[in-house]
Amino acid sequence: MKSAVDIAADVRSGASSAREELERTLGVIEARNAELNVFLHVDVDGARRAAQAIDERVARGEDVGALAGVPIAIKDNMCQVGIPTTCSSKILKGWRPPYDATVITKIVAAGAVPVGKTNLDEFAMGSSTENSAFGPTRNPLDPTRVPGGSSGGSAAAVAAEMTAISLGSDTGGSIRQPAALCGLVGVKPTYGLVSRYGLVAFASSLDQIGPFSKTVKDSAVLLEVIAGHDPRDSTSLPEPSPSLVAHVNDGVAGKRIGLVRELFEGADENVVTCVRAAADALRDAGADVVELSIPELALTLSAYYLIAPAEASSNLARFDGVRYGLRVKADDVTSMMEATRTAGFGAEVKRRIMLGTYALSAGYYDAYYGQALKVRTLTIEAFARAYAQVDLLLGATTPSVAFKFGDKTDDPMAMYLNDVFTIPTNLAGDPALSVPFGTADEGLPVGVQLLGPGRSEAQLFAAARVLEIADGRS
Ligand code: GLN
Repeated sequence: MKSAVDIAADVRSGASSAREELERTLGVIEARNAELNVFLHVDVDGARRAAQAIDERVARGEDVGALAGVPIAIKDNMCQVGIPTTCSSKILKGWRPPYDATVITKIVAAGAVPVGKTNLDEFAMGSSTENSAFGPTRNPLDPTRVPGGSSGGSAAAVAAEMTAISLGSDTGGSIRQPAALCGLVGVKPTYGLVSRYGLVAFASSLDQIGPFSKTVKDSAVLLEVIAGHDPRDSTSLPEPSPSLVAHVNDGVAGKRIGLVRELFEGADENVVTCVRAAADALRDAGADVVELSIPELALTLSAYYLIAPAEASSNLARFDGVRYGLRVKADDVTSMMEATRTAGFGAEVKRRIMLGTYALSAGYYDAYYGQALKVRTLTIEAFARAYAQVDLLLGATTPSVAFKFGDKTDDPMAMYLNDVFTIPTNLAGDPALSVPFGTADEGLPVGVQLLGPGRSEAQLFAAARVLEIADGRS
C-alpha cells in the first residue's frame, strides 16, 4: 500500500484526494474488520467530514500539513472528543471524552484523518490483546496467531493495510512488541518527548505514545508531528519537536553500536539469527559493532512488575462508578464501588491492582516498591555507562515470533516474559524502536530493537533505515 508520505504528497498535489484515500481505508476495514477485530469504533461520518475539509483546503491552495489526508488509526486509550474511549474495558463502556488528547490535536493540525479507535489489552496490560474485554485482535499475517499487545489493534490496522500509520502507547513494550510480531516499524520515544495529555494513564512514569508504520520514514514523519513540549503535561520535555525526517538517510558510518547480550540471549534461535544478521548489516554500512554485556538488565522485568502495577493501582482508583462509564447499582456507595469494579475490570487488571496495592502497602513498601526504584536507578546508570562507550545499542525486540492464541494465557509469567527485552528502556526513559529484519522459518517477521540515549531518535531512525534497505524493504 501507499506510504503516509506518498498519500500526503498525492493529496497536496491533487493527484489523489483525502476523500479517495479515506474511502479506500473504509473499504479495507469493511472487508476485514469482522474477521480481525482491529477497530472497536469506526468514526465514518467524522472521518468523511474531516477528509472533505482537507480537500476543500487543498482546493483553496492552503498548506494542509505533513500528514495531509492520511487516514490514521488510534489506540483506544487516547481521548478524542465525543468518540467512545473504552481502553478495551467494560468499566469505560459508553464513556465519551469531553476533550482531545494533545496527540489528536497535533495530528489533525497536520492534516491527518483519524478513522477510529483500535483494540488493546484492557488498560494496556498485556502482550497479545487477549486481555481485551471485547475479544482479541487477530494477526493479519496469520489469523491463528496474536498480533502482540497491548497495542495489537493499532499494529494490525497497519499490517492489514487498513491505514498506513497508527498511534500506540508503550509502557513496557506495547508498541515495539506488536510491531515486531506484525512486521512493522514501532517506536517508543524518549520519556517526555510526546505529550501524555489525554492518554488514559496506566503507569505514568513509563507511558509514552508513539507511531506504527510499514516504513521508517513514515514513523519519523508521524513522531515529528506528535513530539514537542506541551504545558498540559508536567512531564513533557521543555523543548520543541526534534528534526527527524531530515536525518533518516544519515546512515551509521563511524557509529559505535553495542550488541547487548542480555537483549537477545534466551530468545528463539531464529530471532538470534536475525539479530546477528542485523549486526552484520550495520557493520557493512560502516558501523563499528561490538558485543557487550549490561548485567543489570536481568533485574528489570521484576522491577517493572512492581513499579507498573503500583502506579496502575493508584491511576485506576479513579474508576469508581461515579465519574466514568459503568455503574452497578447497590444500596450504599461502598457496595456500589465494589460491585462496579468487580463487574467492570477483567482478571489481569484486577491482578495488577492487587499486586500494586500490596507492593505499596505499609510494611511492604520498602521491600517491594522501594527496592524496585533502586533497580530502576541502577538501570538508568547502567545504560548511561553503556552510552559513554557506544552511540546505540542493538538487541532483539521479542523472544519469539507471533504466538498462537491461548499459548500463554494460563500463565501470567509466560506472558510477562514477552517484554523482557523491551522493558529496560521504559525504566530508563530512553528511546527505542523495533524494525523488521528477516523472517523466521514459518515465514513470520522478526523485529530487531535499536536503543539509544535520551533524545537520540534521529540516530535510531537512521540506523533503522540502514536495516530497512539491507532487508530489501525499500
Ligand atoms: N506487556 C506489558 C504489560 O503488560 C507492557 C504493556 C504496555 O507497554 N502497555 O505491562
